[in-house]
Amino acid sequence: MAKILVVEDEEKIARFIELELQHEGYETDKAADGRTGLEKAESGGYDLMLLDIMLPGLNGLEVLRRLRKSSSMPVIMLTARDAVMDKVSGLDMGADDYITKPFAIEELLARIRVTLRKGGRQENVSGVLSACGVEMHVAAHTVTCCGEEVALTTKEFALLQTLLENKNIVLSRETLLTRVWSYDYIGETNVVDVYVRYLRQKLDDAFGIKLIQTVRGVGYVIKDETP
Ligand code: CA
Repeated sequence: MAKILVVEDEEKIARFIELELQHEGYETDKAADGRTGLEKAESGGYDLMLLDIMLPGLNGLEVLRRLRKSSSMPVIMLTARDAVMDKVSGLDMGADDYITKPFAIEELLARIRVTLRKGGRQENVSGVLSACGVEMHVAAHTVTCCGEEVALTTKEFALLQTLLENKNIVLSRETLLTRVWSYDYIGETNVVDVYVRYLRQKLDDAFGIKLIQTVRGVGYVIKDETP
C-alpha cells in the first residue's frame, strides 16, 4: 500500500488526516514544519506528500520549490480558502493537485487516488480523455461525440477538460471557477452554470447522452466507470 507523508503544523488536522488515511489502508508519516517535511520527502520512500502551505520554518511553496529540484514525487497542496495565488503558484511550481481547507475527507481521498494512479507527473496531458461516448484529443484541441466532431469555444473546452480529468470526482463551482477562469472571476460562480448549460446543449442534448451531472448543493461531475 502507498505511503503518504503528511506535512501539516496543525496537530488536530494532521492527526485527523492520518487516521482517515490509515483507515483506508495507507501507511503514513507526518512532519509538523516545513524543514522536517522537506528532509523526510528528500529521503524518499514515500508515494505522495500532502503539503500544507502555511507552515513554520519553510512554507509549503518553498518546500515544494526545493523538492522539485531533485524529486517528482506526487504532491497535493493544502491551501486556505480564498488563497487563489497560493494555488496558482503551487501548480506553477509543480504541485500535482491542491485541495482547499476546510475539505471533505472524501474529496481528499478521491484526489489522492487519482494522483497516485497518474503516478505523479501529468503524463496524460497530451493524450485522449473520454467518457460516455465523448472523446477529447487534448493536443489537437478537438472533441468528438459518437465519432462526430463538436466545435467548442476555448472556455467550453477548458471546462470539459477539467471535468474529464477529474472523472468521478464532484467538483464544486468554486473549484471549476479557479481552474478554468482563474482569479479574474472570483465570486461569479454562476458563470460555471452558464457554461455547463452551453456544454449540455452541444453534447448531452445534441447527442442524447448523459454526460455532465449536477450534484445538488455541491457541484458537477462526469461519471464514467471505464478508465
Ligand atoms: Ca498550517
